[in-house]
Formats: sequence, C-alpha cells, structure tokens
Amino acid sequence: MIRSKIFISIASILAKQSLLVDLLMKASFDIIIVGAGTAGCLAAYAAAKEGLGKIALVDRKAKNQIGSKICGDGIGIKHIEFLESLGYPLRENGAVRNVIQMAHIISPDTKTDFSIPIQGQLAIIDRHKFGQILLNETINEHITLYDKSTLNSIERKGNVVEAKFTTNQAEPLILSAPLIIDGSGFNSKIREDFGIFDEYAKVKDDEQYYCYREICTLEGKVPEKYSDSAIFEFSYDITKGGYMWFFNRGGNEYNMGTGIPKTWIKDISPKKIFQVNMINRFQSSKTLNFGGGFVPTRHPIPTHVKDNIILIGDAGAIVNPLHGGGLGASLASGYIAGKIAAKVVPDQTVSEEDLWIYNQKVLEKYCLRYSILDFYRILLQNIPDAELNRALAEGYLPMDKIFYAREYEQLMQLSRKLGQIWTQLPNHRFNLLPNYIEKINQMTADYPTSPEGINSWQKDYSQIYSEYQSKIAIKK
Ligand SMILES: Cc1cc2nc3c(=O)[nH]c(=O)nc-3n(C[C@H](O)[C@H](O)[C@H](O)COP(=O)(O)OP(=O)(O)OC[C@H]3O[C@@H](n4cnc5c(N)ncnc54)[C@H](O)[C@@H]3O)c2cc1C
Repeated sequence: MIRSKIFISIASILAKQSLLVDLLMKASFDIIIVGAGTAGCLAAYAAAKEGLGKIALVDRKAKNQIGSKICGDGIGIKHIEFLESLGYPLRENGAVRNVIQMAHIISPDTKTDFSIPIQGQLAIIDRHKFGQILLNETINEHITLYDKSTLNSIERKGNVVEAKFTTNQAEPLILSAPLIIDGSGFNSKIREDFGIFDEYAKVKDDEQYYCYREICTLEGKVPEKYSDSAIFEFSYDITKGGYMWFFNRGGNEYNMGTGIPKTWIKDISPKKIFQVNMINRFQSSKTLNFGGGFVPTRHPIPTHVKDNIILIGDAGAIVNPLHGGGLGASLASGYIAGKIAAKVVPDQTVSEEDLWIYNQKVLEKYCLRYSILDFYRILLQNIPDAELNRALAEGYLPMDKIFYAREYEQLMQLSRKLGQIWTQLPNHRFNLLPNYIEKINQMTADYPTSPEGINSWQKDYSQIYSEYQSKIAIKK
C-alpha cells in the first residue's frame, strides 16, 4: 500500500516535470528569427519597434559568444551612425576600434596604387563587442532569446511554421509562428537544405570565398602605407581573383586576411598565402586571434521569400560580390524584413505573394548594384595577373571607381563608359562585358512584380552569368 502510494507520487512528480519540460520546450510566437547575428538582431529590433509583441530570437551559440565571428571587421561609418541613431551605444562602449583615412587598391605587380582618401568612411570594429551590444540592446525590446539552440527542421502546419531546434536538453525546442525570418548566416539550412528554395538560390563553389584572417600586432617598423589604411591587393596568380586585405585596427594592431574561391581550396591554402605573402612583409608580429570562414559572393539569389519565410543577410547571400562585405547589407535587410513582418503578421498575410515586397525593397537597395558587380567578380576570377596589371595601369579597370560607385545608376553609368573602351580592346574578357551588363540591366528592370513569372525569369537571369563565366573561364 505504502509502496504503491510512493510510486504514484513519484509518477505524478515525473509527469509534472515532463509537463513542465514540454511547456518550456514548446511555444508560439508572432515571428521566429533564426540567428542573432547582425541581420537577425536588426530584424528583431525593427519588428519590436513596429509593434510586434511576441518575438523569438534563436541562436546556436551561447549568449556571451553571439557576435564573435571571423571577419575583416570593416563597416561603413554610415551604418554605425544609423545603429547609433536607433539607440545602440556602439562608439561609447568601444565597439569601433579605428576609423580609416585612406584606402589603397593595389595591382598584382604593385605598380598601380589607387589611393582613395576615404576620410573616415570606413570603421574597423571589435566584432564581439559590436555583436554583444546589438544583441543586448535588441533583447531589451522584450524579445525572447533562446541561445544554444540549433535549427534542425521546419514544417508548415496550416498557416504557421513549426521549427525544431536541438538544444542541450533531451527534448527538442519546438517554436511555431506564422513567419520565420532566417538570419542564420552563410550555412542557412532553409536556403540550402530543406528543399524550400530551388537550385537558383544555392551558392556554387565559385560563388563563395574561403577566407583566412588574423588579428595581430605588427612589431618593429611598419611601412607608412599600412597605418590608418585599408589595403586591398587583388591578384589571380596568388588569390585566384580574391584579394589580400590589411586593415589597421588602431596603433600597431591589424586585421589581415585573404580569401580565395572555394573551387581552389584543394590546391591552395589561404593560410599559406597569409604566411608566405602577407605576414612575411613585416619585421615581426604577434597573433592575437585567427581563423577561417566562408562568405557568399554571387549575383543576388532570385527570390528571398517563400510562404511564411524571409531570408536576410548572408542566409539570403546579400553580400557585395566584389569584396565580400556583407555587414551593412545584413543590417539593412534585417531591418527591412522586421518592418515588413510587423505589417504582415497581424493581418495574417504571410504568403509568398504577400512577402514579395521584401524582394523588391532589397533588390532596389542592394541587389541591382550587386547584379552588375558580380560581372566584375567573375572577371577578376578569370584574368591573369599580366592582363590585370595592364588593365589597372591603363585605367580601363578603375577599381577605385568601381568600389566606390555606391548607387546603381552611378555604377551602370561607369560600366557603360568603360564599355566604350572595352569593346575596342583585343581581349574577349572585356569585349563581352558590355553586352552582358546590358542584358542584366534589362533583366533587373523586368524583375517580376509577383512570384508569378519568377521561374522563367530566374532561368534566364542565371543563364547570363553562366554564359559569360564559361566564355572567359581560365579553369574549365
Ligand atoms: C573572413 C570574413 C571576412 C569578412 N569581412 C567582412 C568585412 O570586413 N566587412 C563586411 O561588411 N563583411 C565582411 N564579411 C561578411 C560579414 O561577416 C557577413 O556578411 C555578416 O556577418 C552577415 O551577417 P548575418 O547576420 O547575416 O550572419 P552571421 O553574422 O553569420 O550570423 C548568423 C547567426 O546565426 C547563427 N546560426 C547559424 N546557424 C544556425 C542554426 N542552424 N540555428 C540557430 N542559429 C544559427 C550563428 O551562430 C550566428 O550568430 C566577412 C566574412 C568573412 C567570412
């Protein structure tokens, strides 16, 4: 009798505990944001400020590790100012390490140096501090953070999406919401693995760079050029169209690294490039932090939305294909997505068609320009150094102007002007470009106004890049 009473009470305690675990591990929200990086934080912030009440922000990292990422740490000062205007106290808390005065874009033979007095337009940040400030200020907006939780699967159930996350508990965390915003970065499972987005959204090996970078101090005498500068050295022979960067973090601290297309990583190691071609230039150095990472560098994926889903930041491959900079675009795309979420979720209008507005806004802000810049990326991946030296020296590839043509119209105008020279050159890489750039200009103007029409559009759009690539490819 006593035994069975004890058994019943233990059983009821266990049942209550499992009910509690169930309650803790299951919840419904207005939106679920996967990834608390720059894109995810801004999406959460914008959605909260626009009035959404129940926001889940989920990251696989532990809370105090969120924000640390292998990165060049360079970001336009205008983005810092924008974040500060929203209330993120960045500079006052030491998130900006340095403000750069000069940029140099240097030819492989080092004879051409485009020196650009950028006078404080580029900030070099402390990536971890920056990420932690974004995170902590964001979750102050009554946002529920689930850390140490990795997205594993999603399933549509009626008009909500159920997302399952692996945690350090035996039970998965199950969250549901009408809208899921994916800010999980380059390795987004939603973009690549779940069969929701098709082949045109996949990032191919030549459309991503593997980078190795170190944060280090340079001891002894350092040539003047490296102080308060951001230096980019492009080359085919060394980096296969990628580049080596040297960013001054203030004083004698540097963020230096290099990236090569993934297609080459079996043959070449970026770490070796770093050791042989970069760090050896200096008398002595001390490594403070090192590591590698991938960055997408391709023309924009044709659509960033599906029913109940929006891709932001690296998850949507919204990165400048020419230099791999994606911090600014991740902030902006997250912010746009958060604002849209606040409009569509209360109305329960979360179909692909309802969310199409996001594609249009992101296209206008970034992707038009990136669609042209991708031709320059393909060109750089397929131009031997002797030719690149000539193009830079003779000025028919003015990398400084291309880098700093910040508006689509400006870039298109520049490309057209250069096109007049390119067609005169005895070189098919350049001869072909004007025609392909015009084709893409026309295609982006004809971007579908709704999901209807995207299937044929994306096929033609992608064909233009693969045609140019196959005609000029050095490595078949
Ligand atoms: C070596 C290198 C150098 C770079 N240098 C620069 C530079 O100088 N300037 C610049 O502008 N850009 C640079 N970039 C690109 C820039 O870092 C990215 O574009 C930017 O960080 C993208 O932000 P994001 O929020 O989209 O993704 P991320 O910052 O990658 O954030 C994604 C978040 O999602 C989480 N996550 C991932 N998977 C899951 C999952 N399954 N479940 C839950 N959470 C998940 C991650 O933990 C992370 O917190 C560089 C990139 C690399 C690799």
